[in-house]
Formats: sequence, C-alpha cells, structure tokens
Amino acid sequence: MKLETLKQVEKLAKFHSPKFLVTSFYLDRDKSRLTKKEIGLALKNILHQGRQRIQEAGLNKALQESLAGDLDKINVFCTQHILGSILPGLAVFSCHGEKYWQDFDLGSAPRSRLVFDLNAFVKPLSAILDESHRMCALLVDRREANWFSVHLGEAKLLDRLKSDVPGKVREGGFEGTEAKRIERHGEARLMEHFKKVAALTFDLFKAHNFDFLLLGCTEEHRPDLESHFHPYLKNKIRGGLKLKPGASADQVLLESNELDKILKKSEEDSLVSRFVSELEKGGLAVSGLRDTLRRLNSGEALVLLVSRDYSAPGRLCPRCRLLYIEDKTCPACQKPTEAVVDILDEAVELALDKKSGVKHISPSSRLDHYGKVGALLRYKA
Ligand SMILES: [Zn+2]
Repeated sequence: MKLETLKQVEKLAKFHSPKFLVTSFYLDRDKSRLTKKEIGLALKNILHQGRQRIQEAGLNKALQESLAGDLDKINVFCTQHILGSILPGLAVFSCHGEKYWQDFDLGSAPRSRLVFDLNAFVKPLSAILDESHRMCALLVDRREANWFSVHLGEAKLLDRLKSDVPGKVREGGFEGTEAKRIERHGEARLMEHFKKVAALTFDLFKAHNFDFLLLGCTEEHRPDLESHFHPYLKNKIRGGLKLKPGASADQVLLESNELDKILKKSEEDSLVSRFVSELEKGGLAVSGLRDTLRRLNSGEALVLLVSRDYSAPGRLCPRCRLLYIEDKTCPACQKPTEAVVDILDEAVELALDKKSGVKHISPSSRLDHYGKVGALLRYKA
C-alpha cells in the first residue's frame, strides 16, 4: 500500500498488543543513489543485527518467537519487493504473535532501521507526509496545456487541452492591414486559450486540493497567462519549470522535486526564524525536551519542531499517555510509567493526537542551539 494520508499513520499508531512487541522496519531503496546489490546488503545486515538483538534482549520465549517471525516475514517480503516499486522507500510493521502486518511504499527515502517497541515506530512516516507537498505542474504553450499532479514521488498526467490558435505572424514583415488583422485575431484566440487554461487549473485545484502550482511556460506568455488566474491561484504559484507541454511524467517529477527541495528548505528556515524570534522576546514558544514535553502534555503546543537527527529515551504513562523524561511515576495519575526508546517518536504521536502541527527540521539549523526540539504555543502561560 502506498503511504498517502495521515489517517493511515494514525490507524497504525493505534495498534497495540497486550502480549507482544511490534517490529517496525524501514528500508532506503532509492535506486537513484543505491545499486540493487547495496540495497540487498543493507537488508541482510539490518535483519542480521535484529536477530542478534532479539537473542541478547533476555525476552521470554513467546516474545522472542514473535519477533523472529516478524524478521522472517520481512525478509521474504523485501526480497520480493525491493525492486517491485519505483518508490524510494519501504516500511513494514509486523506483530507475528497477533498476525498483524502492514507495509507501505514511501514517496521519499527513510533512514534504514529496525525498531522493536510496544507500538509501531511512526515518526519517519509522519515526517515523510509532512514533507510532501501536493503539487500541480502546468505546462503551457500557445496551443497546448498539460496538467500533472506531483505527490509522494509520483507524477501523473491529469488533463490536457489543445486549442486552435493560429501561429505567430512573422516579425519584421510588411505592415499591411491584413497582417495586423490576422495578428489581432491570433492574439484574441491566444487569450481565449489562456482563459480556458486558467479556468481548468482552478477546477483541478478545487478537486485535488493542491498545495502549489508550478508553471512551465515561456517568459513571453507568463504575464498574459497569469492575468487570467484567479487571485487564489496566483498565490499558489511557487516557481517555474523549464518544460514544454510534450514533457514526460518523469521529466516533470525530476524538475518538480528539485524545486520542492528548495521550497522545503525555505519553509523550514522561516518557521525556525519565527520560533527563535518568539523565544528571544519571551513570546509564544518553548525550547528543549523538558519544556516541550510539558506543553505537549497540556495541549498548549501549536506546532512541534523536532530536528530529524534527534532521538532520546524517555518515559510514557500507559494510562494517560503523558510523556516524561525521567519520572518513574506519572505525576498526573500516580501510575508507574514505562520506558520508551525514543520519546520524540511518542511526542510526534501525541502532537498528532492533540491536533498540533509537527515540523521535522533538517540539521543543521538554528533549532540545534535550542536543544533540537521546541514548540510554538497556542497561548502564553
Ligand atoms: Zn498517568
């Protein structure tokens, strides 16, 4: 199954077995960077290390058997699916003891890893979704227009239009009235073409809920085309593609992804700037693990910011799902808390539960100076 929505992640995050652990497995199989052999070797190494960890963990026999069953199934599945999809990432969640299995094809490559825990390790999934923009690429010339949707590592042709616009009148030719008349006629047809393109683009935006519009057209036509766009669409333009309507889906994907990387970096930078300026004026932000967890627990976090390379152990109250760094007893309900391998993973889940935003920030950034984690707040305490 392809990972497409946050609902899939939320459903996965809810799975919990009273008896067994969940195996979460991520594989980077980005064939633009790695050979088939390298991917196969990485798979073999991760599973080998996983088997060693199971043996060394001192678990009871039933738990051990369930985890070993997970690894066997993952091995068989991956061997069959490494090259099966063009998407650069694969994630598998398995709990053999409960006969639970869920796999996802991922639109961007995760860090390869294997995690055994009480719940599915979903942080990388929410990071991929959070990063992925739903883009519309529009390629236009004087006669044609093609629309592509670009999302999660895939470009698909959505629609195409051909208009009957006469060719350009030769420049520098004679200046007779007939030539002027033909030119005016041609101009009017061209404007009609752009008007149709603008209307169809608006309809597609409404139907597909795109985040951005990427525009492939010549500089000459751009002002005329944009003059027909609804203000809503003008606001959605995020850049230009150097492609013509005949371009393939692969070319569209490649150029759109390049542009998207630049856009993401600048989005992250501006969010971190806002965060730092709130912190510096003592406004609506907190930094560091302790304060961030406290504000997440109380539901005050508007957006959780977490550096991609940051993980830390912590503790979770199984009853109220509140998060702590070292409290052995939950201060809210006095029940004993449980150790978790990565409290940031839990923090991401809690943030999703409480309808807070989550932003994964690529290192290095100014967030590093503030403990690699922080939150913008809904209101001041
Ligand atoms: Zn509690």
